[in-house]
Amino acid sequence: GLRSRAAFKLQELQSKHRLLRPGARVVDLGAAPGGWSVVAAGIIGEKGQLVAVDLLPMDPLSGNSLVIQGDFTHEQVQVQVRGALRGGAADVVLSDMAPNFCGDKETDHLRCISLCEEALSFALRSLRPGGMFCCKLLKGREEGSLRSAAAEHFESAKFIKPRASRDSSAELYLLATGLRSPRQ
Ligand code: SAM
Repeated sequence: GLRSRAAFKLQELQSKHRLLRPGARVVDLGAAPGGWSVVAAGIIGEKGQLVAVDLLPMDPLSGNSLVIQGDFTHEQVQVQVRGALRGGAADVVLSDMAPNFCGDKETDHLRCISLCEEALSFALRSLRPGGMFCCKLLKGREEGSLRSAAAEHFESAKFIKPRASRDSSAELYLLATGLRSPRQ
C-alpha cells in the first residue's frame, strides 16, 4: 500500500521533475507514516539507499532502507543520518517535514521555514555536487529568502505546486537542482 495520500505528491513530483533514479541515495525527512519512502524505495530499487527520518515511529522499510526516529533539528540525529550514508554523499534530500500547525498563518509559515532552513543546511553538507533538494513549505513572507538561500548554491531553485496538494492551498514545494561544487 501507499501508507499515505502524501505518496501521490511525490509520484507527481517524480513524473514532472524526475527527482529520483534507480540506484540513488536518498534522505527522506519527515517521512512518517512512510508514503514518500515507499514510493522512493520502489524507484531507487535494490541498488539505491534510503534514510528516512521522523519524530514519530514508523514501520521499517525494505532492502537498504533505514528508519531513524528522532528530531531532525538535533545535531546528533543529523550525525546519525550522515553515518547511515556510510561516508557517501546523498544524491537527493527530500523534506516533507511539517510542524504541528497552531492555526496562526504567520507562526505556521515561520515554523515551516525554520524546518526548511535546517533541511537546506543539512543538504548543503550532505549532497554530492549536482545533487537535488526538495522541501515543503507554507506560503508566506520568508519564502523568497528561502529560495534565494537555495539559489546561492544550486543551478536552479524554484517553487512548484503539485496538483495533489491543491486541497491545502498554502502549501508548496521548493525544488533546488544542480548543487554547485564548493569554491567554483
Ligand atoms: N512524507 C510523509 C509521507 O509521505 O507519509 C508525510 C509527512 S507529514 C506531512 C510531516 C512529518 O514531519 C510528520 O510525520 C512529523 O512528525 C514530521 N516532523 C516534523 N518536525 C520534525 C522534526 N523536527 N524532525 C523529524 N520529523 C519531523
